Amino acid sequence: MDTTFTTTVLGYPRIGPRRELKRAVESYWAGRIDVDELQRVAADLRRDTWAQLAESLDSVPSNTFSFYDQVLDAAVLFDAVPQRFRDLGLSDVDTYFAMARGRDGAAAMELTKWFDSNYHYLVPELAPDTRFRLAGDKPVAEFTEALRQGVPTRPVLLGPVTFLKLAKPFLPELLDGLLDCYAELLGRLADAGAEWVQLDEPAGVPDLLQRVYQRLGGLTKRPKLLVTGEVLPALADAPVEGLGVDFVTSPELADRIPGLLGLRDKLLVAGVVDGRNVWRTDLRKAAALGASLLGSVGSLAVSSSSSLLHVPYDLDAEIALPQEVRDRLAFAKQKVAEIKTLGEALRDGVPLPAAAQVTPLRNEKTRERLSALRPEDRSRADYDTRAAAQQQRLGLPALATTTIGSFPQTGDIRKARAQVRAGSLTEAQYDERMRAEIERVIRLQEEIGLDVLVHGEPERNDMVQYFAENLDGFATTELGWVQSYGSRCVRPPILHGDVSRPRPMTVAWSEYAQSLTDKPVKGMLTGPVTILAWSFVRDDQPLGQTADQVALALRDEIADLEAAGIGVVQVDEPALRETLPLREEDRPAYLRWAVDSFRLATAGAAVSTQIHTHLCYSEFGDVITAIDGLDADVTTIEAARSKMEVLEDLRAIGFRRGVGPGVYDIHSPLVPDEEQVVGLLKAALDAVPRERLWVNPDCGLKTRGYGEVDPSLRALVGAARVLR
Ligand code: GLN
Ligand code: ZN
Repeated sequence: MDTTFTTTVLGYPRIGPRRELKRAVESYWAGRIDVDELQRVAADLRRDTWAQLAESLDSVPSNTFSFYDQVLDAAVLFDAVPQRFRDLGLSDVDTYFAMARGRDGAAAMELTKWFDSNYHYLVPELAPDTRFRLAGDKPVAEFTEALRQGVPTRPVLLGPVTFLKLAKPFLPELLDGLLDCYAELLGRLADAGAEWVQLDEPAGVPDLLQRVYQRLGGLTKRPKLLVTGEVLPALADAPVEGLGVDFVTSPELADRIPGLLGLRDKLLVAGVVDGRNVWRTDLRKAAALGASLLGSVGSLAVSSSSSLLHVPYDLDAEIALPQEVRDRLAFAKQKVAEIKTLGEALRDGVPLPAAAQVTPLRNEKTRERLSALRPEDRSRADYDTRAAAQQQRLGLPALATTTIGSFPQTGDIRKARAQVRAGSLTEAQYDERMRAEIERVIRLQEEIGLDVLVHGEPERNDMVQYFAENLDGFATTELGWVQSYGSRCVRPPILHGDVSRPRPMTVAWSEYAQSLTDKPVKGMLTGPVTILAWSFVRDDQPLGQTADQVALALRDEIADLEAAGIGVVQVDEPALRETLPLREEDRPAYLRWAVDSFRLATAGAAVSTQIHTHLCYSEFGDVITAIDGLDADVTTIEAARSKMEVLEDLRAIGFRRGVGPGVYDIHSPLVPDEEQVVGLLKAALDAVPRERLWVNPDCGLKTRGYGEVDPSLRALVGAARVLR
């Protein structure tokens, strides 16, 4: 039997084409279904995935299913369960979910972003005395389950190097114990009949990789090993049978393949179909790349560049997408079909269709404006001039109080949105409800005594999707769900063409809010970097150019807000830091366009218009000069959890504009008391003079209830007054 293969994918979505898993898991948490029902839904999803993949691919992955997260699965598999969860004395399933979500005082494990994607994994917690043990058999069980259904599969495991690298703290001395577990697991998989196993090593550490695969490769009882990720050149000569390389992210690796003689007897799994974006593959180009590698490797397989976890299931489910956009797209199912086609072309010489020539939507006006830009379009008057003009206009007290934008998204608000979508509420009725909500929020803020008010963002389903729906050049999907973490899914908009703004997007809401009060109301926009970060973005032009197109639309929006009498505008950039490229050498260019696009969006504002920005994290190290470069008049940041440490960083670089370190953590239901807030503000006053210190929560309030928000904001305002 020929034991290599020519087509595969590295992984597949698992949440279900209609989010079946999300619904089942959440029903289980709510006690509406039992564990057997939960398992049944999961087994159905696995069966459907295997059956579908087996129709098109030579090698089908398994163990890509997860109830919550594959890194958590690995931690549990190797018994890295922190004591606080063991102490709960729960069943295995409930212990697993407790690790993910926290329970009865046992705080959840930390959640963080998976490499350059918007997927979040749970960070394994290790300690020098952690003793790994093969405590489960999920990979074996799923392999056997698929085999019983007639599909031999290739179990996918998180690689040992990446597991240790992602864990906190990083304890390389635990490696040997961990490898004992992998060895045992590989033996069991071999016994069960697995021919190949895939080990994902996106966090390649060359010397560790070499040590690990020397050892695992040397095992006598094991399946063939396919190692994917940052594996070249580290593993070119390792005793493993296959290597998976991402040629989408690193096309330059193709030139190195012929020189790596160790590959001559290996299977090279060539990731040529983008697993992280939704565009169709240029099949002729991908096939040519594959063909050029054929002579340098033992055998070649065509694959996705990463797991397809990061893209939606099926383009065919999107009936409302414009044809010219659809013609450029491929979701998971369509990517599998592309891989099948490429495999046939390489193996049997089946000719490939030429890439369809679909030109992205063009907007000449946007293009002309961009090419006419001058450097001064990205800079404002000096800060002192602005600060004086703003103080004169706004007359704010020292330690001015504000919020980050959203107020609780109540059940009523969400219901109204669902009703207007379903047609049981007219647009006019919907607007009326939103206005009533805005009025309520304004009255509440006045009563509490905040200084700069917000309209509360009731009309926004999501801070990016709202703008995508209001701009030309974006498409949104009906069912294009992608897992963000656990049961949480997002539907990223698709930025497919030139961006323009057909009409004002937020002005009517802000203007209405301002009409209700004498206090300044802050207009609320999402910045270019964040809009790009949380969308699927066209890849036919540099990202900086696309960001500038979005920036122009925001610039026009700010001008319209100013004309409507709004004197404070916040441009949120919570994704500024998470979008920082992994590769050091790509960072300066990213930071340049990120800062430039923000400045293009905001620099048209009058000197007396106060520009705020909001950043949702506190570990600034890598981006601190970029934050300074944004040149916002006021920067609000997350800080309560890190006890204001961020202020030291800002002081160190001589940051001298307004800053609002969050004084309470909105991610927790705890209500701060006034004294606590006073304490934090006193610490902040050591680093920032009182005229430049703002008092605000950590982030938006939309996920909280009024029961917490109301007393928290009162404590915040009370604390500011005490210190004034
Ligand atoms: N203005 C947004 C809000 O208040 C900001 C959200 C965010 O930082 N992610 O919800
Ligand atoms: Zn935030």
